[in-house]
Amino acid sequence: MTTDFTSLNLREELVQAITGLGYSEPTPIQSAIIPIMLSGADVIGQAQTGTGKTAAFALPILRNLTPQRYVQALILAPTRELALQVADSMIVYGKHLGVRILAVYGGQPYGPQISRLNRGVDVVVGTPGRLLDLIERNALNTKHVRTLVLDEADEMLNMGFMEDVEKILSETPSERQTALFSATMPPRIRSLANRFMRDPQHVNIKRDTLTLASTEQRYYLVHETDKTNALTRLFEIEPIKSALIFARTRAETATLANELVIRGIPAESIHGDMDQKARQPVLNPFRSNQLKVLV
Ligand code: AMP
Repeated sequence: MTTDFTSLNLREELVQAITGLGYSEPTPIQSAIIPIMLSGADVIGQAQTGTGKTAAFALPILRNLTPQRYVQALILAPTRELALQVADSMIVYGKHLGVRILAVYGGQPYGPQISRLNRGVDVVVGTPGRLLDLIERNALNTKHVRTLVLDEADEMLNMGFMEDVEKILSETPSERQTALFSATMPPRIRSLANRFMRDPQHVNIKRDTLTLASTEQRYYLVHETDKTNALTRLFEIEPIKSALIFARTRAETATLANELVIRGIPAESIHGDMDQKARQPVLNPFRSNQLKVLV
């Protein structure tokens, strides 16, 4: 299915923001989920990270926001990193809409989170424990929530968050729209969906649509201490013209890029802390093949 974003009935401000990011057409999960969410129906999306699932739920939520005094959408994520990533994406997508997005997670002082909530927030993205704390302290009013998203539900299950998730669901209006995303659908997630969702539509993005058929995939098991050497060796034996390397943390991106440079492989790193202006001097040479490796 090829559609473009303009046919998805999103607001002009949103289309402008995503076009600015270089998204030219919706990914399969976006083409499937956006119309369902805009229709108001509940939806279960079985998809991994990397499929574009964040925009699949974020764009319809933003499309239907009207800044008002109450929290209108709640997004539950298993980790601080994911909560921040989702909130950051929503801020970028919603930059022309004047919406207020807040990320909350454990380990942070309550004060600033509570005062932001008091000043008015449209969308809260958070980890279940902290969200529940804020609800129980009467700092987060869930009575006007129209859409609730469970992102990476199976991860929240693995991390022991299910009871908190259920309590939060019970604290929101029963007529809310619920969207659940999970890479896998263990029985506990299915029963959660049965109890808390109304006639959900299912969207399943299969593995083979995650990457292009022309992409060959391989993995190597190596000791932590041998990783850089193994990687360097790959660059020596394979005719690699251009490479994109993903690392888990911001610090690792910089360390790895440095190690490669020391070994004579031109590399630069980018990460979430860099704004668009700081990314361009790295991205442009990479695009034009003047820079071989982007970490
Ligand atoms: P996600 O699966 O939500 O973590 O998204 C994976 C990556 O794909 C993110 O870096 C997004 O910025 C990017 N992305 C999402 N939607 C699109 C799109 N329609 N076109 C190009 N990139 C996209």
